[in-house]
Amino acid sequence: MSTVDVVQLLYLCASALFILGLQNLGNPDTGRRGVQMAEVGMVLAVVGTLLHHEIVSYQWIIISVVIGSGIGTAMGLFIPMVKMPERIALSHAFGGLAVALVGVSEYLRHGNDGNMLVMAATGLEVFLGALTFTGSLMAFGKLQGVITGKPITYRGQNISNLLAVGIALSGVVYLVFNPDAVAVFAVVVSLGLALGVLLVLPIGGADMPVVICLLNAYAGLAASATGFALGNNVLIICGALDGGSGIILGLMMSKAMNRSFRNVVFGATAGAAPAATAAAPGLKSVPSSANVGSVDDAAAVLASARSVIIVPGYGMAVSQAQHMVRDLAAALAANGAEVRYAIHPVAGRMPGHMNVLLAEANVPYEQLFDLDTINDDFAATDVAIVVGANDVVNPAAKTQPSSPIYGMPVLAVDKARTAICFKRSFDPGFAGIENELFTKSSTMMVLGDARKSVSSLVQAVKGEVRQAA
Ligand code: NAP
Repeated sequence: MSTVDVVQLLYLCASALFILGLQNLGNPDTGRRGVQMAEVGMVLAVVGTLLHHEIVSYQWIIISVVIGSGIGTAMGLFIPMVKMPERIALSHAFGGLAVALVGVSEYLRHGNDGNMLVMAATGLEVFLGALTFTGSLMAFGKLQGVITGKPITYRGQNISNLLAVGIALSGVVYLVFNPDAVAVFAVVVSLGLALGVLLVLPIGGADMPVVICLLNAYAGLAASATGFALGNNVLIICGALDGGSGIILGLMMSKAMNRSFRNVVFGATAGAAPAATAAAPGLKSVPSSANVGSVDDAAAVLASARSVIIVPGYGMAVSQAQHMVRDLAAALAANGAEVRYAIHPVAGRMPGHMNVLLAEANVPYEQLFDLDTINDDFAATDVAIVVGANDVVNPAAKTQPSSPIYGMPVLAVDKARTAICFKRSFDPGFAGIENELFTKSSTMMVLGDARKSVSSLVQAVKGEVRQAA
């Protein structure tokens, strides 16, 4: 078997493992195996690439592998789970930059070879790669709070963006017939860089999950185009898988937020008031109408509860309260309550964020219910326990047409007989808006870090149960 055959065989095995990995990721029980399969696939793809006959020296490759592995290991070890969306945005940025640089180098080497398919693929590659690079940096900045999370709009925004996309794609077509037009190639790259910024600017607040999926899709499509440009099958396949799954996830997230995909991408209208400007300022003080209780008050209510739904949110991730929440569920179940978890599709800061944390705490998957399945049950529930969730339980999404989250399906915690909410203050959540759930007469607010409060609550519930026995 020649080296070329070995490389193709490794690529074939890697592609099969990527597909099987994705399939396994579709179910929490097999998700871990899916990640391991994809990891083995990536190792095979890298080994195959290192065996490539065109490599003349390993010197720069080894230096790059050492530097890249060092950065990757540090990111894996030191970036906390709650910063995962920012990490993902940075990874997309690096991916986009790599793709764009490969495209530029391929163009400089083979630009005028006359292969029209390769030129078209290279043009798309640099355009999408550059767009992913700056777009992901913008998303990182917005998530990190370095750039305002509010949509930035101006008159004629959508038209000018569409025009820029049209000019860039026309540039790619021009290059297919005139590959020597270096200036046109530079315009395509520049427009890609500019569009990454311009397309993410008007997207704000609650729409960020869809943007991250979209950037994931751009990165995948750019990698796939790179595969065509380099004649590399594994890149074509894994880029298509990445691009396809990014688009599907984006569509699913828009559906979960009741927003049309087109509306998220081209939603901003010139002159319109940016959605998040409707945001309430942080309520630093406790509103007089609020019913603030202690952990013991919460334990007293829970002692007689027969049905409980736990609603986790971003605050649970921040405080790492998932293990305490599992213990609380166990204590309540030991007291005879039926305990279930309601998982909102955009709770937390990344798709599946709550599922991952609860799985880490060994909460049985059968106890997790998605919004559609459980929402009608809140009305017949004794106590809904909200652990660091805000936007996903905000009734304004149903009642206030002027609200930036109006129309997004929310968990009907306000319908439960009693809601006990754990958060540190009355400050707004990600969308920056006030939440009337927290001042409702049937709501008890327990203020403080969720991990500490829930941990004390577990002991208090156990005490109540012992007293009753
Ligand atoms: P949220 O609206 O961001 O609210 C989280 C709440 O947790 C905050 O109000 C905060 O209140 C509280 N909190 C923070 N640290 C805490 C701690 N240590 N202990 C107790 N509470 C704490 O979160 P959410 O309800 O999960 O909604 C998610 C939001 O993020 C949505 O708007 C969604 O669109 C957006 N988003 C989602 C994704 C995704 O893919 N899932 C990605 C990007 C953005 P205090 O400060 O008062 O404690």
